[in-house]
Amino acid sequence: MEYRSTRGGQHVDLATAVMQGLAPDGGLFVPDSLPRMSAATFDDCHSLAEIGTRLLEPFFADSELASKLSAICEDAFNFPIPVVGVPSDEGELAVLELFHGPTAAFKDVGARFLAATMSRILETEDPDPRGPLTIVVATSGDTGGAVAAAFHQRPGFRVVVLFPDGQVSPRQQHQLTCWGGNVISLAVRGAFDNCQALAKEALQNPALNARHRLSSANSINIGRLMPQCVYYAAASLDIWRRTGRRANFIVPTGNLGNGFAAIWTRAFGLPIGDIVLSTNVNRSIADYLVSGDWRPRASVATLASAMDVGDPSNMERLKALHPEFSELGAAIQAYPVDDDEIRYQIAKDFKERGQIWCPHTATGFWAYDHLPPARRASGTWIVAATAHPAKFDTIVEPVIGQAIPVPPALARILDLPAQFAHIDPRLEALSEYLSV
Ligand SMILES: *Cc1c(COP(=O)(O)O)cnc(C)c1O
Repeated sequence: MEYRSTRGGQHVDLATAVMQGLAPDGGLFVPDSLPRMSAATFDDCHSLAEIGTRLLEPFFADSELASKLSAICEDAFNFPIPVVGVPSDEGELAVLELFHGPTAAFKDVGARFLAATMSRILETEDPDPRGPLTIVVATSGDTGGAVAAAFHQRPGFRVVVLFPDGQVSPRQQHQLTCWGGNVISLAVRGAFDNCQALAKEALQNPALNARHRLSSANSINIGRLMPQCVYYAAASLDIWRRTGRRANFIVPTGNLGNGFAAIWTRAFGLPIGDIVLSTNVNRSIADYLVSGDWRPRASVATLASAMDVGDPSNMERLKALHPEFSELGAAIQAYPVDDDEIRYQIAKDFKERGQIWCPHTATGFWAYDHLPPARRASGTWIVAATAHPAKFDTIVEPVIGQAIPVPPALARILDLPAQFAHIDPRLEALSEYLSV
C-alpha cells in the first residue's frame, strides 16, 4: 500500500508516512485505496491482536514492516477493550470501554501502536549519530501522558512533553510528569498554543535538527489512526456474531480522530450501521453537517476539555473520503452538548443507569438519549467511553456527590513521584533540556 497527502503530491511508503506524521504540503496521509473486507474475513480472528493483524494487513502490504505487523499488534493491544451492556428502556445499549490502558483514555491505543511501529522502523535503520529519536509532544492534557507512557523505556527513543503550566488537571499533570528515565517533562509558562508553537518551531529548526533527531507523535499520524479502527472492528464483530445485526456507534469527538476511525472501519465493509458524533459546544462539525459550509473557529473551553477543538484536523480526511457533501451528510450526524447538559447527563446516568461517565463520554450518552425513539429502538447502539471518570475526578465527583474508585493502572501512576522543570516558551530554553 502506498500513501499520499490529502492534498495530492508524491506517494510515500508506510514507514515514511508514520515517521513524517504530517505530509510536507500540510495535508494528512491517506492510503491510495481502501481495503474491502466483510465480517467473514475475520472468521478465525478473536483477540484484538488477531483482528488488528487481519484488518491492517492491507495497510502494511509491500512494506518492510509487513512481517512485523502481528508482533506490533501483540505489543500495542495488551489491555482489554470490552463492550459492556448498559441498561436502557428501548433498544440494546452498550459502552465500548476504551479506558483500560496505562493512562486511562483511548489515546493509549494509538500511542502504543505508534510506539510499537516506530520501534520496528528504527530496527531496520543504522544507528543515528545524533542519538535517540526524540519525540516532541505538546499537550493540553491527555495526549502527552499517553505518548510518554507508550515510549517510556523503549530503547532508541526519548520523549519531551510540553504542557501549559497550571492549565491541566492535577491527575493529568501527574500523568505527564511521573515517568523519568527517557521522558523529559516541561511545564511551559504559557498556554497550550505556546506549547504547540514551541514544538513546531523545534521540529522545523535546522540547527536543532542537526544536533538531535526530532519527530512528533501527533494525533493526525496515520500510525495512531489505524489502530483505532481495530476496536470498532472488534466491537462490531462481537455484536454481529451474537445477534446478526450491525452495531451503531456514538463517538465523543474533538479532533475527529476517533470518529473518523469508526467511519473508516464501516467504509472497509465491517458490519457497522449508523455513526453519530457527539461534541461539546465547539460545534464546527455539527454546523457544517447542517449548512454544508465549513467554518472552523477558535476553540471554546468546556468541561470535556479533550474535545475543545474548533478546527478538527481530520475533517480533511473525512472530506477526502466523501467529496460530495450530500454523501457526507447522509453518512454521519453530530449532536453538540453544552456544559450544563454534560453535568445533567453525568448526574442522570449515575442515578438511573448506575454508571459514572467522564465528561467526554457523557456527551455520547446525551446524544443517545436525544436520538428519535424509533432510532434508539431499532438496533444495538454502542457509545465509545473515551476516558475513565477517575481522570476527571474534580469535575465528576461534585456532580455525583461521591468519590470515584481509581482503577489499578491509574493508581500505580498516581503513586509515582512527579519530576518536571519550568521553562519559558522559547526555543533556547527547550534546547538546553534537549542537550542534557
Ligand atoms: C482526545 C479525546 C477525545 C477526542 O478525540 P478525537 O479523536 O480528538 O476526536 C475525547 N475524549 C477524550 C477523553 C480524549 O482524550
